[in-house]
Amino acid sequence: MKKRLGLIYGGKSAEHEVSLSTARAVMQAVDFDKYEVIPVYITYDGEWRKGQSLAKPVETIEELRLKGNGESQKDSIHQFINGAGLPDIVFPLLHGTNGEDGTVQGLFEVLNIPYVGNGVLASSAGMDKITMKQLFAQVGLKQVPYVYFNRSNWKESRDAFIAEVEEALQWPVFVKPANLGSSVGISKAADREEFIEAVDLALKFDRRVIVEEGVDAREVEVSVKGNDDPVCSVSGEIKPVTDFYDYDAKYKDGNTELIIPAAVTKSVQEEMEDMAIRAFKVLDCAGLVRADFFVTADDEVLINEVNTMPGFTPTSMFPLLWKNSGVAYSTLIDELIELALERHAEKA
Ligand code: ATP
Ligand code: MG
Ligand code: MG
Ligand code: MG
Repeated sequence: MKKRLGLIYGGKSAEHEVSLSTARAVMQAVDFDKYEVIPVYITYDGEWRKGQSLAKPVETIEELRLKGNGESQKDSIHQFINGAGLPDIVFPLLHGTNGEDGTVQGLFEVLNIPYVGNGVLASSAGMDKITMKQLFAQVGLKQVPYVYFNRSNWKESRDAFIAEVEEALQWPVFVKPANLGSSVGISKAADREEFIEAVDLALKFDRRVIVEEGVDAREVEVSVKGNDDPVCSVSGEIKPVTDFYDYDAKYKDGNTELIIPAAVTKSVQEEMEDMAIRAFKVLDCAGLVRADFFVTADDEVLINEVNTMPGFTPTSMFPLLWKNSGVAYSTLIDELIELALERHAEKA
């Protein structure tokens, strides 16, 4: 009998639309001889809408926006769990809050359903830039200097934090909500005034904020897949036309150049691979990760972050790097599902 594969997409996050594009592409790549696909659409309000089991992919993104009856988030999740036909395995194609941060992974742990990608710990630690950087520091991974604080610290002792930033870092700095992706809420600040604006913006998205020293460097990424013995892809460089790789550059303007493989020396490539694997291991990652680096003019390699559920459309960096390493999109999807089943079997 075919396994019932639940594709979970949408979500309450700012990366909702990205998730829909991913879902469409993954659905087209799934081997329908092996799997029946159950679409599960999470609306912007958090309502879970499980569709009919599909024997072939849908044609358009619009068809993925399943109709519902306006149930509350709680009631709809209750319905998902108790209704007939829970999937045998799920692929959470969700980015950001409630999707990439370990919470939905926790739900599937509790339900004992295998799921593709990273577990609870890796997802939540990878989503929180502060925790991630602290873990990276533990294993000696080189990264930019940073400071962090939370909303109440900022309200109560703003001047002290500005002083701390000026003491610890050089302008310009990057101000980021601790838990997000796709550059949402991130700004570059060149002075105090811009800094205050940047913090106010970041605090709209999260109660914790990280401030990093800006580095003038190329941005190069490596994809990793596997469980206990992860392997790396070739690397790829991103060349945004904007000042930095912001939300619009990622999803709107389409002018960002991806150079695959990146023009880096063999030793830079090896250093990135070594760092990517160490990052994967220190977060206890599983399945997949995209590791993002800064490579300076004198070939210093700094890790920026890992993304535990990287962009996953066929034109996204993660699958493109695998394609250039000899792994086709549909093979990649199949392998990630197999890795999930393998990891689940090992838990028992
Ligand atoms: P995603 O998860 O989509 O990759 P994100 O929201 O987690 O992105 P970052 O990757 O941390 O955000 O930052 C977004 C972009 O901002 C980077 O790709 C880079 O262009 C720029 N940037 C971030 N931090 C720095 C820094 N310290 N120095 C220079 N540029 C930076
Ligand atoms: Mg990220
Ligand atoms: Mg992300
Ligand atoms: Mg990034």
